[in-house]
Amino acid sequence: MSPVKMEQTVYLDHNATTPMKPAAIEAVNHALAFTGNASSIHRHGRMVRRMIEEARQRVGTLLGAGPANVVFTSGGTEANNMAIRGCRRDVLVSAIEHPSVMNAVADAKIIPVDGNGIVEVEALDAMLLGRDQPAMVSVMLANNETGVIQPVREIAGIAHRHGAIVHCDAVQAAGKIALSMDELGVDMMSVSAHKIGGPPGVGAIAINPDTPLAGMLVGGGQERGRRAGTENVPGIAGFGAAAAMAMDQLDEFARLAELRDDMERRILELSPATIVFGHGVRRLSNTSGFSLPGIDGDTQVIALDLAGISVSAGSACSSGRVRTSHVLKSMGVDEVHSSSAIRISMGWSTTKDDIERFMTAWEELVTNGAACPGPRRNIEPAA
Ligand code: PLP
Repeated sequence: MSPVKMEQTVYLDHNATTPMKPAAIEAVNHALAFTGNASSIHRHGRMVRRMIEEARQRVGTLLGAGPANVVFTSGGTEANNMAIRGCRRDVLVSAIEHPSVMNAVADAKIIPVDGNGIVEVEALDAMLLGRDQPAMVSVMLANNETGVIQPVREIAGIAHRHGAIVHCDAVQAAGKIALSMDELGVDMMSVSAHKIGGPPGVGAIAINPDTPLAGMLVGGGQERGRRAGTENVPGIAGFGAAAAMAMDQLDEFARLAELRDDMERRILELSPATIVFGHGVRRLSNTSGFSLPGIDGDTQVIALDLAGISVSAGSACSSGRVRTSHVLKSMGVDEVHSSSAIRISMGWSTTKDDIERFMTAWEELVTNGAACPGPRRNIEPAA
């Protein structure tokens, strides 16, 4: 079985995880063959240190951040937790954040979003007005369920006027659009390797030097004292290789825009009742979240799986549990449309043929209903 594509199957769940790029696999394998702890000053240690610093340079370039500001973590979840918990301030997060932001502290204030899932900047301004203590604001750059891109630069400008620290979860945006921490004006930014063709279980947070942030893990002085623990060298080396490739392959996402737009046009022709979330606003070119009212999202996922196509239910799924999407709910999507939502997310290995196979299965689903048991409801499409 190929690591990229299982025979006869189509993988359209790249926002969950994207296949590792061959160069990243090679870099992991190369690093695995080395013995040495990067904290040791002998030649073995220095060799491994060099690999880490090369990867730091590459990840810094991907983020548009100085490499000295990049701290490696165990993934996007840890990076987000570190940013939010380490600030020790009142926290404001948008209503569409990933659970690793949403649940990082128990009492975060929620910034509302509009019907397209875009943060209401006036509401943020009002929430920050007249506070006794400066806050911390966390808003993602691109949403994992809809791909909708946030006005992060404007948000950072407002937040800074009120003395707040700004964190941006760029886990989904990285490698899909060009990033620059400076241009966005944020103080911290999180990324994750397995969303850009690197290995799972490694990520990073870039932290501007003046940002007050307490580390979460204590122990040794690794990562300039920001994150204790012996570094995951093979993971970091793979991340670095994937970051370098991602920088060179941003154009790839223009190709995916054509595939995605053509797919959505055909879906809407076949089933005009379908709602594409964030259709009219700036979105990641690889992502399409939509709802076909009448067939539950998880039923659609299973039916498509039987046809050899892997997609995700629009509802949030972790540990195999599917819950109603808080993202769609915050956008004002009703329960019927929310429970019928699925997400197609393409990536570097997606071909036109993959989309043709998806369209064939989708047509079958729309025409004949799901082949597997599951709720099918006949409802009127929303006006
Ligand atoms: N943030 C966003 C927007 C994500 O989509 C994800 C993963 O799905 C994460 C954070 C968590 O990243 P990781 O899987 O590396 O912990």
